[in-house]
Amino acid sequence: MDKLPIIGIVLPCYNEAQMLPETTVSINRLIDGLVARGVISSKSFAVFVDDGSTDATWQLIALKAAEYSYVKGLKLSGNVGHQKALLAGLLCFTQEADALISIDADLQDDITVVEDMVQLFKNGTDVVYGVRRERTTDTFFKRNTALIFYNIMKKMRINIVYNHADYRLCSRRVLAALSEFGEVNLFLRGIIPTIGFSSGRVYYDRLERKAGESKYPFHKMASFAWNGITSFSNYPLKLVTITGFIIFFLCLLMSGYAVGSYLFGKIVPGWVSTVLPMYFLGGVQLFCFGIIGEYVGKIYLEVKKRPNYFIEKRID
Ligand code: UDP
Ligand code: MG
Repeated sequence: MDKLPIIGIVLPCYNEAQMLPETTVSINRLIDGLVARGVISSKSFAVFVDDGSTDATWQLIALKAAEYSYVKGLKLSGNVGHQKALLAGLLCFTQEADALISIDADLQDDITVVEDMVQLFKNGTDVVYGVRRERTTDTFFKRNTALIFYNIMKKMRINIVYNHADYRLCSRRVLAALSEFGEVNLFLRGIIPTIGFSSGRVYYDRLERKAGESKYPFHKMASFAWNGITSFSNYPLKLVTITGFIIFFLCLLMSGYAVGSYLFGKIVPGWVSTVLPMYFLGGVQLFCFGIIGEYVGKIYLEVKKRPNYFIEKRID
């Protein structure tokens, strides 16, 4: 890359009025520094996406946009959640930059590694994942629930980067690919690895939130995790089939026992004729549910209409 890349930073904001004054200053200083040192183009910018905040977030963004030349704003019609707000920012500004970096507005993710991300991008890397080195600043609870979550995802063969949230750089062609996903249940950290292209990682320590509070209480985290699994995997449906099969097999054994008891006459009259159909139907039913589930799963994957491939290079 001979000319300096235009880098856009996308920050979703939901009720971040307390955080914004500090964040805008830090981001502005960061971009200023990188421009001054000839790392990125002076056309680089930061977009603050207001995700239907109920506090003064948007007024502040507008104010800062007037004050700092690098600051841009995007206001959404209402609160759609972090993932969708982020997607809106990424897709609206794809054409304006060579690469976009997404980061939370509370700047818990260390912005000093932005330069490393840009260097990797300049060397031809399309996706750069920001990976947390340690989770010492998170609570014991958050740290461990996150660990369990990653492990479950891995077991279900969902391709995600360990300890990576949504702090990442994506090149323009990755963003163009992302725009082709028509997903309603958005789980960006699952989608980006499926897009492919070359990727790299930068490591950083996650800091504590300086102002305001986490917008991700436990119920939101749990629903996010569940969404991540069910948007990417039919595994839970497979479990039904497997369980059905196991129970069906156990039913056969139990039926054998019941018939044996009948033949050797150690039973209350009527017991065998009652439990046999019960075992049998229970097993058959669960097994059939599983099979229906498999088809529902296939339909589910089809209706997503996910793109099947992306072209990385072309020789004309
Ligand atoms: N956020 C958002 N919409 C929401 C909730 C959160 O845009 O409905 C933003 C929020 O402003 C922040 C980022 O998503 O920039 C991450 O949220 P938070 O810091 O509360 O999550 P945590 O770091 O605690 O997981
Ligand atoms: Mg945070």
